[in-house]
Amino acid sequence: MALVVKKFGGTSVGSTERIGAVADKLKASRDAGDDIVVVVSAMSGETNRLTALAEGVHPSPPARELDVLLSTGEQVTIALLTMALEARGCPARCYTGAQVCILTDSAFSKARIQEIDDETIRNDLGLGRVVVVAGFQGVDETGAITTLGRGGSDTTAVALAAALGADECQIYTDVDGVYTTDPRVVPEARRLDRITVDEMLELASLGSKVLQIRAVEFAGKYKVPLRVLSSFEEGPGTLITYEEEGMEEPLISGIAFNRDEAKVAVLGVSDKPGIAGSILGPVADANIEVDMIIQNIGHHGLTDFTFTVHKRDYETTLDLVRRNAERLGAREVAGDDKIVKISLVGVGMRSHAGVASTMFKTLSDEGINIQMISTSEIKISVVVDEKYLELGVRALHKAFELAEAQPVAEEECR
Ligand code: ASP
Ligand code: MG
Repeated sequence: MALVVKKFGGTSVGSTERIGAVADKLKASRDAGDDIVVVVSAMSGETNRLTALAEGVHPSPPARELDVLLSTGEQVTIALLTMALEARGCPARCYTGAQVCILTDSAFSKARIQEIDDETIRNDLGLGRVVVVAGFQGVDETGAITTLGRGGSDTTAVALAAALGADECQIYTDVDGVYTTDPRVVPEARRLDRITVDEMLELASLGSKVLQIRAVEFAGKYKVPLRVLSSFEEGPGTLITYEEEGMEEPLISGIAFNRDEAKVAVLGVSDKPGIAGSILGPVADANIEVDMIIQNIGHHGLTDFTFTVHKRDYETTLDLVRRNAERLGAREVAGDDKIVKISLVGVGMRSHAGVASTMFKTLSDEGINIQMISTSEIKISVVVDEKYLELGVRALHKAFELAEAQPVAEEECR
């Protein structure tokens, strides 16, 4: 007998039929002997609908009241799912976040979970009930309703699994797992049986929207066994694992890409202490996040400085930097928002040389020029012209044989 926390996203509970199908599935697991806690999102589209309602009465709705409003989406689905379970003769109880004391800080719309009181849930499980908990919401010290940020039901599920010491946390969604890359770009993309939490974090932050990034961080911190699987098809999904020493990890697990960045270059600026700070200072002050940063080697006392920001911040950044560039005596400020970032992610890179050179050679064989490069222990990212996105990702997927069973990184003496 296992204790399992299962989370169903908005599409999985998008209609009463689908809620019925989820109830069937849950009843089957319970009849098989498992203890089950279920976390649900609002019905698909509901959170957006509620947000639009709020904006209809206030141009920037007060955060506290907005959370009161948004939390109702999940309250609907917990009640309906519990009724559906009861209709199938499966004893169940539902709770809002506040009712099971999911205590958060008071940062409305992006609250963080601090504590969960598991007593009520354990009691119900002891009485043979399926426990249905509203995702995405909690309560702060003053009793105000809070929400956890878009996609926050994933985090509720992981936090509950951690608090209960669950055997597994299963996130049911509309895809059947985590893929080597986006199957819409590479039809041969393959579902991964497993992926390490570090790789998942890289993929999530690079734009694979399978799991809320905070949920993955939370899972990593508490080593919650986490699985992503389809609510519509049977299958093992993808298990998020924690690296064990001596275990052989695949060289490359996936290729992520991001179309949301733009590049700003400051050319011919004098190469002296403080330059990077004075270029990026005003950008940071405007609360604009910078991703990649490159400074060229100085030449005759001058250097070039390039960085990327989110596309939505492109014009503002360009403006800020242009204004500042005169003061810095820069020769020119140039920008380009027709770029994409492509990244190879794999923990096997840590112990294996040659990944970068294979990546660069593959791109050059396709005539793709690399504009920027950045690396971390388990990731290599390049910026290229956006028109090469598909070509680049497909070529890399092939070069690293990601469509086939994973090549395992060999132990290497370094
Ligand atoms: N309903 C919320 C959202 O749409 C939370 C979630 O689905 O995880 O973002
Ligand atoms: Mg989601």
